[in-house]
Parts: sequence; C-alpha cells; structure tokens
Amino acid sequence: MSPRRVRRRPDPAPPPSGPEQIESWPDGDWVIRLVPGAVSVKAYRCPGCDQEIPAGMPHLVAWPSLNPGPAERRHWHRPCWHRRMQRRPGRRVGR
Ligand SMILES: [Zn+2]
Repeated sequence: MSPRRVRRRPDPAPPPSGPEQIESWPDGDWVIRLVPGAVSVKAYRCPGCDQEIPAGMPHLVAWPSLNPGPAERRHWHRPCWHRRMQRRPGRRVGR
C-alpha cells in the first residue's frame, strides 16, 4: 500500500509587475503600471506611435483613474507615454 502523494501547489505568485502609481496629466489622473518584459507575453499596439510593442518588451499600461476597466487600458512604450502630451491632437506629422 503506497501512500498517496498529495502535493499542494504553492500559492501562485502574483505577476511581478510594478506597483500601480497615479500620474496627474492635463487630461486627468492616470493609473500607470510598468510591465517588465518577462511578463509581457503578447504584442500590443502603442497608441502613441501606432507601432507594435512586441512580446517581451518592457512597457507600461495606463488607464484613467476615474474610469478603470479592462477596456480602458492602453499599452504604451514608455517613451511614448511620456511624450504623449507633446502630440497635438488633430495634427499629424508627415504627408
Ligand atoms: Zn510607442
């Protein structure tokens, strides 16, 4: 009679993404969370430069603090996020 081995799985570790932080912008408060490359397992499109953020690239997630929800989350390159207020709405560079 062999004893049954019951292995309890260790508690799943929370994803090692950074703590959330609030940033105040002229268009309101935004919640920012840094996403390390190791956690980024899929590609996203950055709304700042309209380029893809490939899986594995460190970036950040931002969503409006007044309107949290998965649908409001946007994945940004870090430099694009910090530059976003330099982009004038309605004005496109090029052609
Ligand atoms: Zn970008």
